[in-house]
Amino acid sequence: MKKVGIIRCQQTEHLCPGTADFKAAKAGKFKFEPFGPCEVIGFVSCGGCPGKQAVARSAEMVKRGTEVIFMATCICKGTPIGFACPHWEAMRNAIEKKLGPNTPLVIGTHPAPDDKKE
Ligand code: SF4
Repeated sequence: MKKVGIIRCQQTEHLCPGTADFKAAKAGKFKFEPFGPCEVIGFVSCGGCPGKQAVARSAEMVKRGTEVIFMATCICKGTPIGFACPHWEAMRNAIEKKLGPNTPLVIGTHPAPDDKKE
């Protein structure tokens, strides 16, 4: 079973327990599908705007055995707070640069309500 780590938006922490992320990972559905059922071994926030802890926290999750990093749907689709992170592309680029090609970075975890079909 793949070991995965999820980075979420800190703005959603007070509201969202991450249920859809955990369910999708366990079932190997949606964005987890290419990896099959996954074990979430890290679930951290970006550290707050502008996401300055996302790189260090991703690297720490990899150090602790994470094989794939996911940026949660709350970051790139703005669920459930209604707006996408304005920094998500910079965050993605910085994480990719730090982790290199050996650790895949996946954008999103599960469908957002406004997705037609995913
Ligand atoms: S930087 Fe983006 S992901 Fe992080 S708290 Fe701010 S809006 Fe959320």
